[in-house]
Amino acid sequence: MKTRFSWGNYPKQPQTATECYWQSDIQAALMRFQENGTLAYGQGRSYGDSCLASSNNVIYMRPFNRFISADWEKGILIAQSGVTLEEILTVAIPNGWFLPVTPGTKYVTVGGAIANDVHGKNHHRQGTFGCHVRSFSLYRSDISGSLKCSEYENTDLFHATIGGLGLTGIIESAEIQLMPIKSSRIQSITQRFNNIDEFFALSAELDEKHEFCVSWVDCVASGTNIGCGIYMAGDFADDGILKVEHRPKLSVPITPPFSLINSLSLRAFNQLYFHKSPTSRKISKTGYDPFFYPLDSILHWNRIYGRKGFQQYQALIPKDNAQDGVREMLNIIAKSGVGSFLAVLKYCGDIASPGLLSFPKSGVTLALDFPQNAERNSKLFSQLDAIVRQTGGRLYPAKDAHMSAEDFQAAYPNWQQVENLRDPALMSHFWKRVTQ
Ligand SMILES: Cc1cc2nc3c(=O)[nH]c(=O)nc-3n(C[C@H](O)[C@H](O)[C@H](O)COP(=O)(O)OP(=O)(O)OC[C@H]3O[C@@H](n4cnc5c(N)ncnc54)[C@H](O)[C@@H]3O)c2cc1C
Repeated sequence: MKTRFSWGNYPKQPQTATECYWQSDIQAALMRFQENGTLAYGQGRSYGDSCLASSNNVIYMRPFNRFISADWEKGILIAQSGVTLEEILTVAIPNGWFLPVTPGTKYVTVGGAIANDVHGKNHHRQGTFGCHVRSFSLYRSDISGSLKCSEYENTDLFHATIGGLGLTGIIESAEIQLMPIKSSRIQSITQRFNNIDEFFALSAELDEKHEFCVSWVDCVASGTNIGCGIYMAGDFADDGILKVEHRPKLSVPITPPFSLINSLSLRAFNQLYFHKSPTSRKISKTGYDPFFYPLDSILHWNRIYGRKGFQQYQALIPKDNAQDGVREMLNIIAKSGVGSFLAVLKYCGDIASPGLLSFPKSGVTLALDFPQNAERNSKLFSQLDAIVRQTGGRLYPAKDAHMSAEDFQAAYPNWQQVENLRDPALMSHFWKRVTQ
């Protein structure tokens, strides 16, 4: 049994992981740990405590990773929940299919992608991952068996499980509709913006024209340059090249005792990154891997934050208040002098998710990492939380380690419906924190 943590290594709640290869392993683990609350664990790419079981005993689903069937005419794939998005791409791309929605890392499992109803750079075109899940099989401890869930069968559990934070049962397998592609390469546009108002202008001009859009923002820039950054948009090319990409990988071999990210290193990196980007609009063709997964080329990059770990703050500010809300947040962050080189702005559209607790809605999401420092982060986060509250926004549970019960329940009014359908054997530290 291996000890596992969440991606941010904060809060530090070491999890003892029981490996699951067969359905009987799921059943046995649920029985064994049900009293204090267990939870499925995929690849632990959630940052805070939503992937940590309240008993600190998780059911490790990664070995539950067989493909069950594929229809390459229709692009319909059935896979066990421990299969990763990387593994799906490996079989799908040569057949002319891609994931309809992918987060910024391919190292997540199908189970994790459904439980957090993950979104990607094309939310305005394709909605969330859950919009493309046709059905799944869900193992429940209270019936000691599985249920098929879809829009037509066990619909209440279908809706509660998509974005249901792993609390409604263990997903065994899922049927996913893939997206057809004519090439695995991306025709991309890159353009610098000098402040947050220019970001909104670019976004208004280009987002609707392109499948994928995302921006990097310099969170330490201040004054007239507040919110400067780099806008990237892209679409699949049509050159007939269908190639699975395996980029050479670097790795951070150890966790240093302290964070390598501080205001000096951050300022230097951001200046360099911004000024290295082209001043005018640049069009180029790139592989899908560097476009979607730039961070995956450095394994264990989360270690650079040192032994205390880090927290990600990801908020969504609704469309009508987005420009003022995001500007105010960036102002506060710039003044604090902390932040990360990983600061991302993304526009989300209005495609509704089938999930009850899905995070994205029409607006702009801002995501930043902060080295763990209890006093400094809690002061900063409470200022940012006030803006999120005032603008009617919300925080992303998959990234969270601080949200109050009050804020969660106000932002996710369907939480009680999920609680009513929660498998009694399942409980996370996150859910305990925000509902009890
Ligand atoms: C570099 C990076 C970039 C990211 N970019 C994005 C992004 O762009 N968009 C986005 O939405 N997210 C993003 N994320 C977050 C990540 O996509 C999600 O946290 C994802 O859910 C992690 O999947 P996982 O397999 O690691 O699951 P874990 O983190 O291990 O678990 C996540 C949840 O899934 C549940 N779960 C896992 N397996 C099962 C199962 N078989 N049955 C039931 N429940 C299960 C767990 O109980 C838990 O609640 C990013 C994360 C990283 C590290």
